[in-house]
Amino acid sequence: MTSPNTGTTPKPATATRVLVLNSGSSSVKYQLLDMADGARLAVGLVERIGEETSRLVHTPLTGGAERRERTAPIADHRAALEAVAAELKADGTGLDSPELAAIGHRVVHGGLKFSAPTVITDEVLAEVERLVPVAPLHNPANITGIRTAQALRPDLPQVAVFDTAFHTTMPEYAARYAIDAETADAHRIRRYGFHGTSHAYVSRRTAQLLGKDPSEVNVIVLHLGNGASASAVAGGRCVDTSMGLTPLEGLVMGTRSGDIDPAVVFHLKRVAGMSDDEIDVLLNKKSGLVGLCGDNDMREIRRRIDEGGDQAAALAFDVYIHRLKKYIGAYYAVLGTVDAVAFTAGVGENAAPVRAAAVAGLEELGLAVDAGLNAVRSDEPRLISPEYARVAVAVVPTDEELEIAQQVYALVRSEAAVPGNRGPTGPAHD
Ligand code: AMP
Repeated sequence: MTSPNTGTTPKPATATRVLVLNSGSSSVKYQLLDMADGARLAVGLVERIGEETSRLVHTPLTGGAERRERTAPIADHRAALEAVAAELKADGTGLDSPELAAIGHRVVHGGLKFSAPTVITDEVLAEVERLVPVAPLHNPANITGIRTAQALRPDLPQVAVFDTAFHTTMPEYAARYAIDAETADAHRIRRYGFHGTSHAYVSRRTAQLLGKDPSEVNVIVLHLGNGASASAVAGGRCVDTSMGLTPLEGLVMGTRSGDIDPAVVFHLKRVAGMSDDEIDVLLNKKSGLVGLCGDNDMREIRRRIDEGGDQAAALAFDVYIHRLKKYIGAYYAVLGTVDAVAFTAGVGENAAPVRAAAVAGLEELGLAVDAGLNAVRSDEPRLISPEYARVAVAVVPTDEELEIAQQVYALVRSEAAVPGNRGPTGPAHD
C-alpha cells in the first residue's frame, strides 16, 4: 500500500533498521543501526567528494567482514551514496533490504518550525531550503543528501532530525537578541542553538546515570568537541544554550571565536580593511584555540603545555577554561539548582585536565572533581565527582547517531507517522 500523501510505503513490522546520514558539503558520514537492539551494523564515511582523491571507509560491525577503504574519484553526493549502498549490499544489508525501516538525516538548521523529527515532504524540504540564508554552510549539503537518498529509495520514509530542535523550548527572553525587534523579526535573527541532538541525548543519559527521570533533574551539558556548546536543561527541557543564530556564538572552540564584541567586525572592516568573507573565515576558521596558539587539538595543546611550558598554548587553554567557567556559572544562575554538570564530545570525554580546570574553585557551588575518578578512561557514562559533592559531575559519551536513529524509528513506528500527520510541529514564528 502506498500512501497518497508521501508516496512512502509503510514497512513491515520486521523492518527495524535505520540508516543515519550526516551529509556535509564534501562528505557523507553514515551508520546503519538495528533498532531491535540498538546494535550498529556498519559505520563509514565518504570524504573529499568531487575531488580526485575521494576516500571511502566502510566498517561492517557484524558478520566478521573486514574494514574496507579505497581512494578513487567520487564525483558527487549521488555517486557517494551509491558507493555506500554498494558497500552495504556487499554486507547483505543493502538499501533494498526489507529490514530497512527508514533513512534518518541530520539537518543542522530547522529554524523554529521543527521541534521534533519530521518525515520529509516537499513542504519540509522547501522550509529547510528557506533556512539556507541562516545556515549557508550546512543546510545546502543536508538538502543534497536528502534529495540523493530520496532518489535512491523514493518509497522509503526519510526523516529529518534537526540540530536546533531540542532548543526550541528556550524561553523567548533567552532566544531574543536585544536588537531592534522589527529588524530581528524581518530577518529571523534570534538564538536557535545547535548540537541539540547531543544535548538531548546527554541530558537524558545523565538523568539515567543519577537514577532519575529527566523531568526530575537540572543539568548543565558541556558539549566540547571541535565545535563546542553549553546548554542549561531544566527537567528535560532546554532553557538556554550558548550557540545562537549560527554556531559561532558562545564557548571558545577549535577554530571559532565564540562570544565576541560585535564591534570587532566593524573595526576589522574599517581599520583592517577586511572583507565580509575574510572576517567570516577569520572568526569561523582561524580563531578559537587555533587562532590563539596555532593548534586546535586539545591533545597537542596539553602536550605543548606539559612538555615545553609553551606560553601560547597555556594562554589558549586558560582562555578556553575561563569562558567555560563563565558559562557554568551563568547556567547555574539560570537554573537556580543544578543536579549535574555533564561533559561530552571529543574534549569533554577525553581531556581530564579540561574537566578538572573547568570546575576548579567552584566548591562553593557544590562542584568538585575527584582526581582519581577523573583520570579513568572509559567509553561508559560515569560520575567523576567525589561522594560529598552536592552536584554530580559526569562524563557522558555522546551518541548522536543512536539518538537520531531512535527518534527516527520511534516516529516511523508511531501513530504520528500516519501520512498527513507528519507536518512540521511547533510554533511558526517566521
Ligand atoms: P569532536 O568534534 O567531538 O570529534 O572532538 C574533536 C576534538 O576532541 C579534537 O579536536 C580534540 O581537540 C579533542 N580530543 C579528541 N581526543 C582527545 C584526547 N584524548 N584528549 C584531549 N582532547 C581530545
